[in-house]
Amino acid sequence: MDRRDFLRTTILGGAAIAVAPMSFSAPDMATRPTTKSGKLNLKFEPYELKLRHAFNLAKNQRTSTPGVQVQLEYDGLVGYGEASMPPYLGESVDSVTKFLGSLDLSQFSDPFRIEDIHAYMDSVTPNDRAAKASVDIALYDLLGKIMGQPWYKIWGLNPDNAPNTSFTISYDADPEEMRKKIEETAPFKVIKIKMGVGHDKETVEAFRKFSDVPICVDANQGWDDKEHALEMCNWLADQNCLFVEQPMPKEMFEETAWVRERSPLPIIADEFLQRLPDVRRAAEAYDGINIKLMKSTGLHEAHKMATLARALGMKVMLGCMTETSCAVTAAAQLSPLVDWADLDGNLLIANDIFDGIKIVDGKVTIPDRPGIGVVPLT
Ligand code: MG
Repeated sequence: MDRRDFLRTTILGGAAIAVAPMSFSAPDMATRPTTKSGKLNLKFEPYELKLRHAFNLAKNQRTSTPGVQVQLEYDGLVGYGEASMPPYLGESVDSVTKFLGSLDLSQFSDPFRIEDIHAYMDSVTPNDRAAKASVDIALYDLLGKIMGQPWYKIWGLNPDNAPNTSFTISYDADPEEMRKKIEETAPFKVIKIKMGVGHDKETVEAFRKFSDVPICVDANQGWDDKEHALEMCNWLADQNCLFVEQPMPKEMFEETAWVRERSPLPIIADEFLQRLPDVRRAAEAYDGINIKLMKSTGLHEAHKMATLARALGMKVMLGCMTETSCAVTAAAQLSPLVDWADLDGNLLIANDIFDGIKIVDGKVTIPDRPGIGVVPLT
């Protein structure tokens, strides 16, 4: 089955049937197929995400990200989901397809049993967070379509409160390549700069030659000396920087708390935390958290994490991996809840297969479509 067939068909009882054209406006709800499966049917296939620019991170470089695309069918409606597996998170195409292949979601005759479905997935294995996220995203897409509403509305959120999103650039030693990268950032109101790679100040200085828009910095655990981390925070405070993400290795908890006490900029946890139970611990060393669906096992727990972080007086940031518009648009449904968004993952890949989130004048704009708000590009 090729990519287009995968997006257009679903398997029911071993027979491939065509799914109604993928336009999720209200009339589709009335014209959806009358065949009632009464069961959740899960399908998945690997899909490698090609990066438009190689990522130069503190600890490695890469040109693609492994991914898996998911469809969850119920009563003729299809929800779309996705797993993205950057290597540092420890998941792979093999581990995700093994996990998904081990699930028996047909035991759930009511797709609204979200808590039960997550409890079941957590009972299968403790980790496999991106794999679980792919099911969660497809489930939320499906449920939103059943209800005929996008999730930001179901959650009662005002889309006008969605923040600007940052756009990530990484350092390039070739000045011409660096200039091209900076030119691409023109529509964005916040630029994210990756640090911890040995030429941190040079990257900011190169950027500042072309632009005065605010920056945020992600050190990706790259500073392992607390005095140096604090010095960088102080320097960045004079560079129109909004916050610093994961300045030190996640294991250096006490040192990070020491930096946070003294830093003029908020310190945000990314690699340090994954899921809901990690939020309270993060509050002891960080000013805020970066929630990502591939870490949180999807929207269900991400929404709870944002709520808990707010209750603890923390800043909330919403991030993503390199992903198609499927997972990024799902995350965007939560964006009116957060202080900062870093939802550029779909813009960093060359082979997106969905239409969804739009960035208008630098701001996250959520599609007014039921579910997570995406349609396949065919
Ligand atoms: Mg980060």
